[in-house]
Amino acid sequence: MFPQLPADFASVVETTFKNAVASGDLIFSESERSVLKYDGYTMEVRMAPALGQKPKSAPKPDGEGAKKFNPFFPPDPKLVLGGLGDKHTLVLNKFAIVPHHFLCVTKAEESQEAPITIEDLRATWAALQEPIGTSDRTLAFFNKGKNSGASQAHKHIQFLPLDKGTELFPDKVVARTPYEAPSERDPVGQRPLKHSAIPFEHFILPLPTDPSDEELMMRFWALYHRTLQALKQNDNWEKSFNWAMTKEWVIMVPRRADEFEGISVNGTGVVGLLLAKSAAQLAQITELTAGRVLTEVGFPVGPNTEAHYDY
Ligand code: AMP
Repeated sequence: MFPQLPADFASVVETTFKNAVASGDLIFSESERSVLKYDGYTMEVRMAPALGQKPKSAPKPDGEGAKKFNPFFPPDPKLVLGGLGDKHTLVLNKFAIVPHHFLCVTKAEESQEAPITIEDLRATWAALQEPIGTSDRTLAFFNKGKNSGASQAHKHIQFLPLDKGTELFPDKVVARTPYEAPSERDPVGQRPLKHSAIPFEHFILPLPTDPSDEELMMRFWALYHRTLQALKQNDNWEKSFNWAMTKEWVIMVPRRADEFEGISVNGTGVVGLLLAKSAAQLAQITELTAGRVLTEVGFPVGPNTEAHYDY
């Protein structure tokens, strides 16, 4: 049912990454991690001065110039890791800040704005199964819409091998309320959870260890419906959001802005892995607090309208 990763995937990633860095086909930039501690959760900022130099020429998904160069159709052969089922190709990120950052791109010319399909979810789940390098788990993330931090118009899901010990706030939520089979409290196992100390709107669902198509798709839809509802409650019709997933949980965060005071946020930021372009920007995030930045690019936690979703 799930597509097969290329044989010996972790070593393919490591070797292709090493070769592409050596040949100059992949630009890897060093970064420095800082952990910010808040009441009840931590967030991380990765400071990478190279981010400030990254070309800003990539078109917005629906913006001017969206028909220009498409780096994923076809992807650069020096960065390709192999196929994943009939519909997807795995490819290394050309501009990496975290080693082995890879993407799953559709083989067909498909828009980032197109609906997420069961094939996309199966491919995502499959790509999360094998730890890469010294990492013990991977984070998948997806940026949808012009306020989400997306830059490429071709459909792509991204994968970041996490450093051992990285704690993300959804981990805490799911540790407290792990996946349970459908129950009286939650008949279809899809009522989203929230972290009580996180100030920005977010919707989390724990995942079973071996999800069926229905469990994956229904959880995605359950979060998507809440996300659209949150956007509507805030009179925002852009339909921008971030979706992120590990083997343990899936989260969705509605978005109203791409950046706040020059601090750009994408799908890694909304789970608590922020990026800073300079020491000054790191200081700025520390002063503003990560929660404030994420509330400004997202929305404050909204009213609980769960009763409307008991379907
Ligand atoms: P997003 O900005 O969320 O749309 O993600 C696009 C990702 O693709 C970014 O992380 C870029 O660094 C990466 N990228 C841009 N050009 C290429 C390319 N030619 N090959 C592989 N990855 C790329």
